[in-house]
Amino acid sequence: MLSILPRTIAASAVILLGIGTGIAAAADRPNVVIIFADDLGYGDLGCYGHPTIATPRLDRMAAEGQRWTDFYAAASVCTPSRAALLTGRLPIRSGMCAEAPRVLTTSSTAGLPHAEITLAEALKDAGYATACIGKWHLGRTPEFLPRSQGFDEYFGLPYSNDMGRVREPGKFPGLDPRADYYTGPLIRNETAIEPASDQRLLTKRYTAEAIRFIERHRNEPFFLYLAHTMPHVPLFRSEKFVGQSRRGLYGDVVEEIDDSAGQILDLLRRLKLDAKTLVVFTSDNGPWLSFGANGGSAGLLREGKGCSFEGGMREPALFWWPGAIKPAVVREMGSTMDLFTTCIKLCGAKLPDDRQIDGVDISPALLGTGESPRQTMFFYRAKKLYAVRHGKYKAHFFTRAAYGSEARTEYEHEPPLLFDLGCDPSEKYNVAASHPEALAEIEKIAAEHKRGVVAVENQLEKGYKSDKPTEVNTVKVKH
Ligand code: MG
Repeated sequence: MLSILPRTIAASAVILLGIGTGIAAAADRPNVVIIFADDLGYGDLGCYGHPTIATPRLDRMAAEGQRWTDFYAAASVCTPSRAALLTGRLPIRSGMCAEAPRVLTTSSTAGLPHAEITLAEALKDAGYATACIGKWHLGRTPEFLPRSQGFDEYFGLPYSNDMGRVREPGKFPGLDPRADYYTGPLIRNETAIEPASDQRLLTKRYTAEAIRFIERHRNEPFFLYLAHTMPHVPLFRSEKFVGQSRRGLYGDVVEEIDDSAGQILDLLRRLKLDAKTLVVFTSDNGPWLSFGANGGSAGLLREGKGCSFEGGMREPALFWWPGAIKPAVVREMGSTMDLFTTCIKLCGAKLPDDRQIDGVDISPALLGTGESPRQTMFFYRAKKLYAVRHGKYKAHFFTRAAYGSEARTEYEHEPPLLFDLGCDPSEKYNVAASHPEALAEIEKIAAEHKRGVVAVENQLEKGYKSDKPTEVNTVKVKH
């Protein structure tokens, strides 16, 4: 009802409804734009130190807002990471993580359970117009597409862009592959408008859709979830960006995403919505290192996509809301799950109180009124708790390499490895022997956490068949 009223009337109505309930006044409620890159590494933006990828628009966004140094995705691969961002919950709680398959596939029959409450549902209930543009990967069949999860509209690819490959000579996926090797459908709402999308045009088309959505909803509160398909391999970019970057194809692709973000920020300024729109830019997991120069970089962090080392889950994270967000480099801890709780709080929506929510409200850190309450981060690989960070220390109970040939071997550490991420963000030097108190505290936190995790039906394993080996070889390592 509220969404069809002019913003001012809707605002008055919500202010009246909100009296005495602690709901933020609608006039102060920001629009929310979350730009989610795919497989972008911690080291892939200029403002995070990349020497040859030029990202002037995101660098400016960082300078005008906040750049976080210790911000984590909630999983190291696509599907669980997206489930966590949209629900504010660790994927273990929604059944959206598994060892095989690690992500939903083209034959998966399930998706994010409808009983989960997404950020889109929470904001829609609070009167926001909602759109999902880009990669979904939370259920490919019509009943699991974004409009079943609180989004008013959807435009994008239902899963990863390497899925639905039809023909490709040589090794997957070659440098600069042909767009017609891939058959991922482009979907509007629930209809495949193109059975095989031309991936060279995806970033450009997503951006145009995003711009149209913002223009259409300029007079009412809106939530836009813009989940880019890129820079997930296979890499594609539009004509204008071919050969533009010193970093080659991967750099071209990231530079097009930078340009896209710049167009959205320019539009918000032009529409005078900049002072009432929170824009977040981050990524779902670390770089896909096994593709060499076609994968990104985690900078000084260890490993990449698929594993629980920092390179798998620590992400670039930029926050922009001129006049509200205090420009800073924030060295506190945050997570994509916190976007759920924080946006619900800032937008005057209702935080679910009938389930465990893992996200915390980081708005004090954003607004400069306090610190991020996040002190602990849990690092799962599929359904197993591999590592826990508490304060500056991170303990690894198990380790396994990132996506690639070494990933079938799991190492169980006795005692667990302990890294001081303050002195050693690259996780090189085990300090377990010299800091037994820090390790004991993390072991206690881990045990308590595991007691609070309730087993649920797994969604990724439904209907999954594979002829590839899935068993894991566990090797005990004494230190
Ligand atoms: Mg990904």
